[in-house]
Amino acid sequence: MKRISIAIDGPAAAGKSTIAKLVAKNLNYTYIDTGAMYRCVAYATLVNQIDFDDEKAISKLIDDMKIKMNPDGTIFLNNQDVTSLIRDNEVSKGASLVSRYQAVRDFLVNMQREMAQGGGVILDGRDIGTVVLKDAELKIYQIASIDCRALRRYKDNLDRGLEANLEEIKSEIAARDEQDMNREISPLKKADDAVEIDTSDMTLNEVVSHIMALVMDKV
Ligand code: C5P
Repeated sequence: MKRISIAIDGPAAAGKSTIAKLVAKNLNYTYIDTGAMYRCVAYATLVNQIDFDDEKAISKLIDDMKIKMNPDGTIFLNNQDVTSLIRDNEVSKGASLVSRYQAVRDFLVNMQREMAQGGGVILDGRDIGTVVLKDAELKIYQIASIDCRALRRYKDNLDRGLEANLEEIKSEIAARDEQDMNREISPLKKADDAVEIDTSDMTLNEVVSHIMALVMDKV
């Protein structure tokens, strides 16, 4: 069977990574979480006490950054395991800020393209179908209503024993989408040849089956 490249883009908390991981497992493909890479840059910015508006300092910071994404899902930044540290709320907000910068995007997009070489990959993010893998055989644009996304994230947080406030989560997701859709470089948008899937009223299994059917059409 041909091993294709799959791009999944969409707004924050649309469940892209959950779906991408399941599809990758079904197909025995490599899953690449590109958002985690932007989160690593944001985490390093916070640790080094650099202002998120300081483009020059952030662009310099990435010169010394080594990001390692392991097959077991752990993520190392300069040999430190940052897998759970980069899920912090401050890091989420920061990721959306550092992702505005050309130097950051160039650095990470190069890494992503290298990792995706040879196919058999599924990448999720904001610009995979429009920039990173313009030639991906299958492009998905995964959306869900803001209420639905906020509620899922809220339940997720509670399940993980974290504090959660539904209204706060909702406004943070909306702010991040606004920022990601309106930035100058590689804004979040649906690629012309992407298939849009609104998961608001779908179960996980339904979404996965739908995507698997689209994959089978291509391979
Ligand atoms: O997907 P996730 O929510 O982890 O992404 C964090 C942030 O990283 C996004 O809000 C977005 O600003 C940025 N990002 C991006 N391009 C990608 C993936 C993520 O700009 N391909």
